[in-house]
Amino acid sequence: LADRLQNSIQKIKGKGKVTEADVKEMTREVRLALLEADVNFKVVKDFVKRVKERAVGQEVMQSLTPGQQVIKVVKEELTDLMGGDQSKIAVANRPPTVIMMVGLQGAGKTTTTGKLANHLRKNHNRNPLLVAADVYRPAAINQLETLGTQLNMPVFSKGTEANPVDIANEAIAQAKENHNDYVIIDTAGRLHIDENLMGELKEIHSNVNPDEVFLVVDAMTGQDAVNVAESFNEQLDVSGVVLTKLDGDTRGGAALSIKAVTDKPIKFAGMGEKLDQLEAFHPERMASRILGMGDVLTLIEKAQSEVNEDQAKELEQKMRDASFTLDDFLEQMGQVRNMGPLDELIGMIPGADKMKGLKNANIDEKQLNHIEAIIQSMTKAERNDPSIMNASRKKRIAKGSGRNVSEVNRLLKQFNDMKKMMKQMTNQKGKKGKGGGFK
Ligand code: GDP
Ligand code: MG
Repeated sequence: LADRLQNSIQKIKGKGKVTEADVKEMTREVRLALLEADVNFKVVKDFVKRVKERAVGQEVMQSLTPGQQVIKVVKEELTDLMGGDQSKIAVANRPPTVIMMVGLQGAGKTTTTGKLANHLRKNHNRNPLLVAADVYRPAAINQLETLGTQLNMPVFSKGTEANPVDIANEAIAQAKENHNDYVIIDTAGRLHIDENLMGELKEIHSNVNPDEVFLVVDAMTGQDAVNVAESFNEQLDVSGVVLTKLDGDTRGGAALSIKAVTDKPIKFAGMGEKLDQLEAFHPERMASRILGMGDVLTLIEKAQSEVNEDQAKELEQKMRDASFTLDDFLEQMGQVRNMGPLDELIGMIPGADKMKGLKNANIDEKQLNHIEAIIQSMTKAERNDPSIMNASRKKRIAKGSGRNVSEVNRLLKQFNDMKKMMKQMTNQKGKKGKGGGFK
């Protein structure tokens, strides 16, 4: 899915002028891509129609960068298609609230049961009871019990001989007695959907009448995930989907189709094996991911509107022959600042939210003011060649800028590091050929 979309996007991205024919071709590709991904044809039809309408409309045609504007439209519509932020969990009028976890074997039901319990306690101050209703494999019961121990939460189990319906009923009775406000039932899965499994799940369902039925789906299984979601939803009236293993390198076409096919919201995303690696599902981020470029697009867009092409070429040349000076640095900084608040920009770098410390790195606006002041206190010669810097020069600069010498030193070091990095980057770029640098 992503490949196809990306191709058509690459085609239209750089266009200074977008004609109706361009839009037609792009939407044709998008349509095929979505159909290939098993998205319901009616959904696709609507989607394409909306994109088309907007793409030939004023917002695109009158913008300065129509090619990019079209992509923005596609992204917004993709986001819409996957629904808004849906991470709410039902609360029963009379506790306990019962959540039933269903899905194929290996999808991540048991792990997600633990994660969800952790989430409910941590973020909602709840006190869940975990229920081991997968009686076919002793290991499955042990697994849940281990999670319960790790979380220091109660687990209801009755071994492998008991009937899952009885287990569920007794667990709910115990929860009432012990004032557990949530009951999360971990059920059995199979490698494939079969009638026995569905029969058992339906029986549990009609007995406990759950407030939520969460379908756990492995995002790595791609389009299979969509078929699985469809059959589970038909039989059990799923209330929400948890998409697991999104930490893997899946592009997430499944996410798009699941919502479109089942019309059930994707509520959470599993981002790893650990118990705290469950996140609310963000359709917007997913749309970026499907488009395959994080928010880099926006970032480039912003950069392009601030740095004109001649400047960019000049800068690249300077990076290449290492004649980049502190004056250039100062100018660059000014441009970056014109783009908008720094943390917002950093937020657009894919994966940046995962790089802890980056947020608190020395990048707040105040620090930038200091850096500017320091550079401005340098002479032209110093800015062109910081290697002439000695102790007395540093002292003078520190005094002139109202900062101290250690800050001057830090800046010089940062500048040096940056130059080194530029050298590496331009070398790499030379090797990989044009367009290699950004990723
Ligand atoms: P179940 O058969 O549906 O109960 O699946 P499990 O909960 O036992 O999970 C199957 C495997 O997937 C285990 O090795 C889990 O650690 C792993 N797993 C579950 N969720 C995630 C996730 O979000 N990311 C990753 N990387 N692994 C996961
Ligand atoms: Mg399990």
